[in-house]
Amino acid sequence: MQKLLLVVLVAFGCLTLTSAQNLQSPSTFLGYDIGTQFSRHHQVVDYFKSVAEAVPNNVKIEQYGTTNERRALILAYISSEENIKNLETICENNLKNTGLLEGNPTNTDVAIVWLSYNVHGNEASSSEAAMLTLYKLLTERKDLLENTVVIIDPGINPDGRDRYVNWYNETKSTPYDIDQQASEHKEPWPGGRPNHYLFDLNRDWAWVTQIETQERLKVYNKWMPHIHVDFHEQGPNEPYYFAPAAEPFHEIISDWQRDFQTLIGKNHAKYFDAEGWLFFTRERFDLFYPSYGDTYPTYMGAIGMTYEQGGHGMSGLGILNDEGHVLTLVERLTHHTVTGLSTVEMASKNAKQLNTEFAKFFDNSDLKYKSYVVKGNQDKINSLKNLLNKHEIKFENANNGKVSGYDYTNGKQGTMSVDNNSLVIHTNQPKGKMIKVLFEPNAKLNDSLTYDITAWSVPYAYGLDALASTSKVSSTKTYEGKMPTVLSKAYGYVSKWNSLKDAQFLADLLKHDFKVRFTEKPFSSNGEKFDRGSLIITQGDNKQLEDFLGLLNQLKQKHKQDLTQINSGFSQTTPDIGSPDIKLVNKQNVAVLSGEGTSSLSYGEIWHFFEQQLHYPLTSINTDNLSRTNLSKYNVLIIPNGYYGSVLNDTNMQKIKDWVQAGGKVIAIDGALRSFAGKDGFSLKYKSSDNNNSNDNLTPYAEREREYTNNLITGAIFKTKIDNTHPMAFGYSKDYFTLKLGSSAYDLLGSGYNVGHLADTKVYSGFAGKDALPNLENTLVFGEERKGSGSFIYFVDNTLFRSFWENGKLFLVNAVFFVNNNAYEL
Ligand SMILES: [Zn+2]
Repeated sequence: MQKLLLVVLVAFGCLTLTSAQNLQSPSTFLGYDIGTQFSRHHQVVDYFKSVAEAVPNNVKIEQYGTTNERRALILAYISSEENIKNLETICENNLKNTGLLEGNPTNTDVAIVWLSYNVHGNEASSSEAAMLTLYKLLTERKDLLENTVVIIDPGINPDGRDRYVNWYNETKSTPYDIDQQASEHKEPWPGGRPNHYLFDLNRDWAWVTQIETQERLKVYNKWMPHIHVDFHEQGPNEPYYFAPAAEPFHEIISDWQRDFQTLIGKNHAKYFDAEGWLFFTRERFDLFYPSYGDTYPTYMGAIGMTYEQGGHGMSGLGILNDEGHVLTLVERLTHHTVTGLSTVEMASKNAKQLNTEFAKFFDNSDLKYKSYVVKGNQDKINSLKNLLNKHEIKFENANNGKVSGYDYTNGKQGTMSVDNNSLVIHTNQPKGKMIKVLFEPNAKLNDSLTYDITAWSVPYAYGLDALASTSKVSSTKTYEGKMPTVLSKAYGYVSKWNSLKDAQFLADLLKHDFKVRFTEKPFSSNGEKFDRGSLIITQGDNKQLEDFLGLLNQLKQKHKQDLTQINSGFSQTTPDIGSPDIKLVNKQNVAVLSGEGTSSLSYGEIWHFFEQQLHYPLTSINTDNLSRTNLSKYNVLIIPNGYYGSVLNDTNMQKIKDWVQAGGKVIAIDGALRSFAGKDGFSLKYKSSDNNNSNDNLTPYAEREREYTNNLITGAIFKTKIDNTHPMAFGYSKDYFTLKLGSSAYDLLGSGYNVGHLADTKVYSGFAGKDALPNLENTLVFGEERKGSGSFIYFVDNTLFRSFWENGKLFLVNAVFFVNNNAYEL
């Protein structure tokens, strides 16, 4: 019946030539049958807009942001006429239901379902499915909209999607070639999965480092949906995966959340069974790491789910898979459409209960830890506040006194004195469970087989002292720190050096052609003590600047930087300002390798760090061009994590060695160390594990996966001993918590500086297999090896991993600007 009506409508549209007024199917609108071509992002957006124009009483479109490459991020709100009219009230009622907004909800009968598509750009069937799902909701399944608001984000990652789609469109044969070896099935580096800065947006929900996440969370927090689905694709030989998810489940996940996942899964199964389609559930995709499109919503009270269709970037419009089946885009998007509609159906059927159970999730009076208290460097505290604000988590300042509880620094019970600069985060607030997930010292893991890292505890990541208290810590509403003062004429000005914010200040000074010094030894002047790494800006060094003091005040204001005035170059305790131990910071020309061989994620982290955080220029050199590159133009070459077997061949290796000999600095990260370890002339040595007791290999076949985990480290936190007299560690204390991502281990450098090393293997948080641990004892974490006038600088642990380990970022800045400061003149 409804189909018939549509035919009439379309016919009517043709007659009046105002087709924009009518609801069109995606195929009619696009001019090709959906699934027979990949639609570019703007076409998807245009389709959504055309639908909103055609049925404005049922669909509202909102642009909530713009990507790095200036593509629109949009949401569509789809519901009955009545609900669309009351959208604001429904939204408010929902927030009242959770306690996030004060007052009692007037009505909580409406379910809110949020469907997110194409977070991984090259899992490209899902934005196509978004269009068809929108259309079917407004035609075949309009009944569901009576008590459901559906929010559709047709493309979380448009830059990645278009990278994939444009590449595919320009590469594919006509008709498409189903041969797996055809070039249309071989995506080139870096692939369409990540966003512009090559971040995996499905690892960014909790850390909010990317513009797409930042803009999305603002709306997400306003809506707090009851169900959130993240649509993905897996390899072309896999069938379909849907909820319920696999173990481990994080312990805060409620029985209701588990049960409802099963309920939804069974509904999907009904549709899949009817068609004879294959699927699997309860395996592989777990609910633990908080930064996914399923876990983050789950920890915010929703039923958060990942759906995975077989397909992915290698599948194109059609591919012959290993089972002899020709998997087409049409098939892929059809499955995603079915699960999307089935999800909305279950929401609609259970709208009342969804609301009741959703409200219960936000009662956090039972959580073990009542307050988390953190203290330390003010910049780091501010940086943490910034993160909490993005999640709309409330915090206060501690009242003076002592608190006792679990001490993060020692990993045991202890006490900590706090004052009103210390931050207190109480868990008895609506987002208490998310607070627990982000802060808890050691997340409880009921199964070690997980898909991702097992440790992320925020106090370690931010380099703050912390204590978790089982009783509520006394606090008052946040007070704002003192306003920065204005500098007057003096001999010079000193800035401390502890945080990324200090580094940003330095980068800006250099950009404005300030001559800046840093001290390699502590000194005191004007009654204050300054640690290694402190920056010194003197009037005398900067005569070339027209308005030195004006400009310095301007930058000080901009960065809210505290500077201490000193009135003489004569220090109370040496070194004096003119001492050889106080050196000029040379402007560094920094290059980074990109392209084939590099890990696109690691390259992206470095790119994003320099461009969006440090704001310091960076030249990207493609590995294909390394042999033809004139390295003498750069002081620093960063080699991201990667596999450089063919890139760092004998010729290129010699070239790099010669350049270092002449004064260049190589900064090698994680896997890049393999290219130097054990090689002629390097002190860096790979530490092989001596646990290969193959004589007792009687592990049953069924146990193979679990046995394997004994050798794994899947993101665990260790305490690292730091030599903070070395310039690479200026601004750090003697202990530093590092996030170890794997079991690779390197011996301490025989010649060179062991700036950071693991003295013991106590795991402060996360999972580390029992067989992997012994090999880590006394191994390198950060080091420097000098060659001629230059240096090789080693980062065994990647401090920029997903850009969330705030406290590790200064190591990289130190390596660039302070380590082996005798770099040659360009
Ligand atoms: Zn995916």
